Amino acid sequence: MAVKLTDKTPIRYIKGIGEARYAAFSKLGIETAGDLLGFYPRAYEERGKVIPISKALDGEICSVEITVRETSAVRIIRGKLSVFRTIVEDESCVMELVFFNMPFMAKSLTKGRRFRAYGRMKIGLYGREMVSPKLEPILPGTPLPYYVPIYKISPPLTQKAVCSAVNEVLPLCEGLAEILPESLRRDHGLLKRGEAVRLMHRPTDKQTLALARRTLSFTEITVFRLALASMRRSVEKGNSFALTLKNSGIKHFFEALPFELTGAQKRAVKEIFADLQRETPMARLVQGDVGSGKTAVAASALYLCVKNGFQACMMAPTEILAAQHKKTLDKFLAPFGIRVELLISGMPAAEKRCVREGLADGSVDIAVGTHALITDNTLFKSLALAVVDEQHRFGVKQRKALLDKSEREGRRAHMLVMSATPIPRSLSLIIFGDLDVSLLDELPPGRQKIETYIATKDNSREIHEFIKTEIAQGGRAYIVCPLIEDSEENEESSGGKRAAEGYFKELSDGVFEGIPMGLLHGRMKPKEKAEVMADFAAGKTKILVSTTVIEVGVDVPEATVMVIENAECFGLSQLHQLRGRIGRGSKRSVCILVRGGGNDESAERLAVMRDTCDGFKVAEADLEKRGPGDFFGVRQSGEFSFACAAIGDISLLSETEHIVNAVLADRENIEYAELFKAADVFLERNESGKTVN
Ligand code: ADP
Ligand code: MG
Repeated sequence: MAVKLTDKTPIRYIKGIGEARYAAFSKLGIETAGDLLGFYPRAYEERGKVIPISKALDGEICSVEITVRETSAVRIIRGKLSVFRTIVEDESCVMELVFFNMPFMAKSLTKGRRFRAYGRMKIGLYGREMVSPKLEPILPGTPLPYYVPIYKISPPLTQKAVCSAVNEVLPLCEGLAEILPESLRRDHGLLKRGEAVRLMHRPTDKQTLALARRTLSFTEITVFRLALASMRRSVEKGNSFALTLKNSGIKHFFEALPFELTGAQKRAVKEIFADLQRETPMARLVQGDVGSGKTAVAASALYLCVKNGFQACMMAPTEILAAQHKKTLDKFLAPFGIRVELLISGMPAAEKRCVREGLADGSVDIAVGTHALITDNTLFKSLALAVVDEQHRFGVKQRKALLDKSEREGRRAHMLVMSATPIPRSLSLIIFGDLDVSLLDELPPGRQKIETYIATKDNSREIHEFIKTEIAQGGRAYIVCPLIEDSEENEESSGGKRAAEGYFKELSDGVFEGIPMGLLHGRMKPKEKAEVMADFAAGKTKILVSTTVIEVGVDVPEATVMVIENAECFGLSQLHQLRGRIGRGSKRSVCILVRGGGNDESAERLAVMRDTCDGFKVAEADLEKRGPGDFFGVRQSGEFSFACAAIGDISLLSETEHIVNAVLADRENIEYAELFKAADVFLERNESGKTVN
């Protein structure tokens, strides 16, 4: 190579990377040798665990060492279609290797040659065979790797091409700068960074791979925490709008509410008001289980903001939810002359324009909407507060876009984030590390505990009878299905998961004939969805068959039954969200989880649901059972992404907890310089939406 290799070297200069591969790497965000080094394998094939052919079970994916018995010929079936079969053996047994449309295989699989073959063993009537196994020649003096890395790629990239490109950049590991100071590495038993990176790509055994992973996850999480902490500092340094309670008439607002706030709500309001009266922007999360009354808390902040002469907005993840918030806020705020308008993409263009004009000239006080709120053509005259509901659906980046929108003459809006996804404390530190937290750990009084039962499809009749009785007594029922429509693929692969469309038809033509029903799913137009929801809320329909689009925030207090079909398909936190749609009034509510299959693990999960209604307990169980990956998963949509840490183990979260504080307290320490640099890079990279390495 003419150019001296550094981590900044564009991968175009790397041997074997031409135009096509360069473009493909580029799509993965890999531009430099350093990027490639940080592109860790998704998994590893344990090809070094070689077993005798005779020991492999039918269907087992395994590794065998074979010798070719005879040189065989390719059989042309038709045109380019061909099949190549060859007999191979080891000491224990013979078997056949089969390759379709790979005629070139005949050239290398000649008599007497030896290979390590990795693939799925099939045991049929005529003996054993492997179709298109992966082959590595066994040559004297060149040991084969125990683990073979699998990278997450798509054509035209191949595993082989990525492996050889990675081989070219591996020498860089030698000079890789350390991010964690030596003392931390020693205290926590970690590898040197370069060593860890090299082992991720070329692990030698299980233990060292685990240690490499731990080292890199540990580093990532520490850097991530530091980055969040710095982000927070920069927000705190900014100026905002100091609101005042004086002359706001806030007392009247609370008096006009149809209920008395719970203790937890009062506490949250107090914390929020204290923030709002400061010059620095608020960045606060209200975390409260479903039904804990987050909307009223938000409404009080919105009220205060408008009564101080400013505008506010509230962003929701779905149009249904936005429409519902608009209605609720109208109820709370319109009596005080506050003008709330909806702004969602499903609205006619003329209406949207009208609302936008009102926001620009200040005649609209509060805009409630979805992403449409943060498009470029929405301008506020004086935005001072942004409320983001159901935060887990929004990324930090979207939150930041909203904040940037609010930045005027060096001042930015206060931000209030609300989440109903209970996150165990250990994780919430990481996930919401950039926010202060108010906890709504108390439900409004008079709520009945939701009874939860596990049933099977055989119980359908009883379930339907139960729904009828409930409706006769003024109740309403949700029936949630995992799919929208039946498909052939579904019947084959899923063993018949319920689909909303088909089930709706079956029920409305069958057992529930004569009972008005609604159908709701994500493929409907926003306007249709809103109408269906409105009909159900108003009681025009009594049963709503739906997919998980109703999951978030929907509030119909009359609904007392929630039937979840194929409950085994859903995660615990999602089931908890769904169950939270009922039990919102004072009547007894019942949730029925219908099992349509699944294994022991899913049965255990459903048992957790049956045994507790506490969202935090559900979340802890979820964390225990599935690890933190899924919680990082809830921060999808353009969120911070980790190259390694999503698979890191949970103990790292608590292990890194104190480090960041220690580091921040001692920022001048030269030992930490690389760590701060890495945190800056992390933030920059995430601005541009790239993976962190
Ligand atoms: P979530 O926290 O899930 O967003 P909501 O704000 O939708 O909950 O409130 C759930 C229901 O509880 C609503 O019908 C709301 O009017 C009612 N509610 C809220 N606070 C109280 C309270 N302090 N007392 C009685 N009912 C309340
Ligand atoms: Mg809500």
